[in-house]
Amino acid sequence: MSKDCSICGENKQLDDFYDHYLGVGGKMSDCKECFKKKVRTRYAAIEDKTISRYKNMSTLEYKRKYREKNRHLINEYQKKYRLTKKSQINKV
Ligand SMILES: [Zn+2]
Repeated sequence: MSKDCSICGENKQLDDFYDHYLGVGGKMSDCKECFKKKVRTRYAAIEDKTISRYKNMSTLEYKRKYREKNRHLINEYQKKYRLTKKSQINKV
């Protein structure tokens, strides 16, 4: 199985994408290479903003709040992801 990277547009094997429960087929829409590049540029650009925005909120608390807020979504996606995985294994 393969999919197109949303950044470089190349058709790559699923192994070239990181797992992500929100992505198509449980994978991110950006290939590993593009994702790494994106993170590097984005991190440098938003580092200052993020630090000031969450300086009073620890990362853990932020993550906890995010999970609470999106728990039903995350559960749903994880369920879907597991089903997709299962059907893929059955096919093989
Ligand atoms: Zn790419």
